[in-house]
Amino acid sequence: MTSNVRVRFAPAPTGLLHIGNARTALFNFLFAKRHQGTFVLRIEDTDLERSTDASIDRIIEDLKWLGMIWDEGPNQDGPEGPYRQSQRLSIYQEFADRLFQEGKSYKCFCSEERLEKLRKEQLSKGRMPRYDGRCRSLTQGEIAKMESSGLHPVLRFHVGSGSIHFDDLIHGKMNFDSGGIGDFIIVRSDGMASYNFACVMDDHLMRITHVIRGEDHLSNTPRQILLYQALAWEPPVFAHHPLILGPDRSPLSKRHGATAVSQYRDEGFLPEALQNYLILLGWSSPSGKETLPLNKTVEEFSIQDISRSAPIYNRKKLEWLNSYYIREKEEGPLAEALVPYLEKAGIQIDQIDRQWLNQIFGILKENLVVLSQVQEYLGIFFDEKFFFEEGAQTLLSDPKNRETLRSVLKVLEDSQETTLDEPSSLLPQLEKKTECKGKDLYAPLRAAVTGKTKGPELVKTLPLLGRERIIRRIKMALEIS
Ligand code: GLU
Repeated sequence: MTSNVRVRFAPAPTGLLHIGNARTALFNFLFAKRHQGTFVLRIEDTDLERSTDASIDRIIEDLKWLGMIWDEGPNQDGPEGPYRQSQRLSIYQEFADRLFQEGKSYKCFCSEERLEKLRKEQLSKGRMPRYDGRCRSLTQGEIAKMESSGLHPVLRFHVGSGSIHFDDLIHGKMNFDSGGIGDFIIVRSDGMASYNFACVMDDHLMRITHVIRGEDHLSNTPRQILLYQALAWEPPVFAHHPLILGPDRSPLSKRHGATAVSQYRDEGFLPEALQNYLILLGWSSPSGKETLPLNKTVEEFSIQDISRSAPIYNRKKLEWLNSYYIREKEEGPLAEALVPYLEKAGIQIDQIDRQWLNQIFGILKENLVVLSQVQEYLGIFFDEKFFFEEGAQTLLSDPKNRETLRSVLKVLEDSQETTLDEPSSLLPQLEKKTECKGKDLYAPLRAAVTGKTKGPELVKTLPLLGRERIIRRIKMALEIS
């Protein structure tokens, strides 16, 4: 059953999907699911110069990857489409004409230079910059003259005086004085609707009941409410969530590291981890749980519980969640997630025994923080990638370690039966036969057979390498001078 709750995520396709915007999408998605409502995706591409189709495609791909599937929007037609603003221009025109005919907006011919000068003057007097209403009183004759000289006006909304109130679901009662808002542009000189105008038309016509968006839009909301009032429409309920800050408390930006969803995906973060992390930024589960899959969050999510203070980005926590979800993955999905990184590293997957590969993934998953790290361990299992790292070389040059390896080699060469098939018994056997214990045995053995000083559990790794390969690598290690 669907309720009448309708929310939307409305990205401007001018670049990659930022994790801050992905978090907004997530809040909207969760709110819709929690209330059996409808989640709409609307593409706000009225800025023709900066919007691109490539960006739309990437946003769509990233949202799908994150599991934020929309009920209405691009490629998912619904009754209130089209869902791309550049395809709704005639709708905006109709309502812009209506406001103009009702005397609620007027043509403004002020040049950029004049507006810039005005802005500077106001700032120098310590005032908030806002349009001074000069063109509000132009006569019909003056307008006709300017138009016939080829000037294209913008359309400004006449704000008037009074105050604007609304109840924000996160911030509570909000109050703005109209006096502080200059007459703002609703249609630009190229005939394109402004953000505030198109947004209100669409939110109303798409029957949006709740607008959940970042606090950076808080100053737009009184303008939008004025437009609802001018058209005698009921405004939706608003919720403005705080934006994510970097560890230095400035808005999260490239300076702080990766900000685009696609960067996290390429690095090998799982969508489950990113979802879980973003939801915990500024919201906590009543159950106090930290690892919350999306379906569980849907049951518990409430917009009122989003914190009013800005959350601080913490990569360590995201990494912790990612390693948790990697470890949680079942064999099939784990292989599906990791195989692309092997292919990228040039491994010919179709020539590899699947069972062996799954066993490798099974032990490696304990060591991975991000999926791409699997590449660091390929040398252990694939001879063409094998080499002795510097740390391993140092260990292997130690005469005592070389002595140990010689005894291991002897034990392995002497015993014909494949002792490796019983992984748990191999190391104790070697300990017994070589009379080397614990780290004194493990450290040189690891360095010799994996080329590394750290890595997956040795006892599980050895059987996957096989007796012959181990013997070969120990010999190689002993050749290092
Ligand atoms: N296109 C706006 C943005 O990307 C949407 C703001 C809104 O949700 O109203 O910030």
